[in-house]
Amino acid sequence: MARASGIVSHILPAHPPSVGPSRHSATEGSEPTLALISTIPQGELAQRGLAGPLPDLLPGALWGLLREQGLRTVQCSCEDLLQPGGARYRGVILCGNSPLAVVSPLMRLRRHPDTALLPLIVYLHRDEADFAVSPPVEWLRASWARYADAVVESDSSPAEAAAALQRLRRIAAAVAALPAPLSASLRSQRLLLLLRTLLTRGIVSLQPERDPHQPLCHAYPPLEAIGGELLQADIELLCRLGLLERTFFDRVCVCPGCGDARLLFREVCAACLSPDVRRGEVIHHYRCGHVAQEPAFWRRGELVCPACCEPLRHIGIDYERPAALLHCHSCEQLAAEGTTQARCLGCGQSYLADRIGERVVWSYLLTQEGRAAAACGQVPAVPSIDEATEGESR
Ligand SMILES: [Zn+2]
Ligand SMILES: [Zn+2]
Ligand SMILES: [Zn+2]
Repeated sequence: MARASGIVSHILPAHPPSVGPSRHSATEGSEPTLALISTIPQGELAQRGLAGPLPDLLPGALWGLLREQGLRTVQCSCEDLLQPGGARYRGVILCGNSPLAVVSPLMRLRRHPDTALLPLIVYLHRDEADFAVSPPVEWLRASWARYADAVVESDSSPAEAAAALQRLRRIAAAVAALPAPLSASLRSQRLLLLLRTLLTRGIVSLQPERDPHQPLCHAYPPLEAIGGELLQADIELLCRLGLLERTFFDRVCVCPGCGDARLLFREVCAACLSPDVRRGEVIHHYRCGHVAQEPAFWRRGELVCPACCEPLRHIGIDYERPAALLHCHSCEQLAAEGTTQARCLGCGQSYLADRIGERVVWSYLLTQEGRAAAACGQVPAVPSIDEATEGESR
């Protein structure tokens, strides 16, 4: 896609915002102001004949509602928001042409402590050509959408847009009511952010979600963005502090080598452990009892027993293909049973089933103490990192 031409830049001036009826300084007036971040290439909008300041040129019920409700928007970039003091807005509307376009800024905003709590609506400008629904995008959507507080598309109904704005207002009010954090250490601030995310989003029970990209095949959005690789240890610590309470969700099999739950279980040859085995590919000649692979019986287009040289005519009368037998293509062994082995997609090693470990996947409840800590901005004294990680559940 071509970069914005000079004419387009004039239509959509680069930040900082200076002109246009919908552009105001964030500090001006007392009405709630939202940051408007657009990842839609400006040249693309111009090519479609859309001209004027954002958001006036974007289709959809959302923009009319914003004006009706007196919610002003200021166009800025993700970088503007991430600068010190940049998160002074009440919320964010992140615009893009596709989920792929918004994922990166969405995750950056969610990861940063200054912007992690900001209510955020993703607006997808639906275009038939570049918004073709395919399985990867659908999968992607399922995982990224949990990091947005609402997703509105250009063809969403007014009711859907209104619900998204209502949610944004509710979260903005909850965030605004929070006092500045009292805890000083980086870790306690991160713990507080986790609790405050749950509190301001009204998440009482945090359920793990299926996620094939996670070592344990489960993720805890929207907390994953804040905690990152430390999330599991942070959550365990919050449990030990009584701020979260865990309940059983599921049990997963894990690799004894690396702890990854992405395991490929299959039957392998008991003799040589090759996974190159098939059932039902051998022939059993009833009369002489010979059992061998089917190719050994073919002779000039006919099935003939290689042991006694008798032709085999009728399946079920002369011979059978015993599905009960496992044939190994690697060592040629025939056996009634193989053995179960798992190949770990994390480390690539293979292990017999009896060596595979187990781990519990938990759901978490925000306790009364957790709500109180989130509301007042102080997490009780945090034990040292060593203590925190030793208690990780296995
Ligand atoms: Zn025979
Ligand atoms: Zn074998
Ligand atoms: Zn492994």
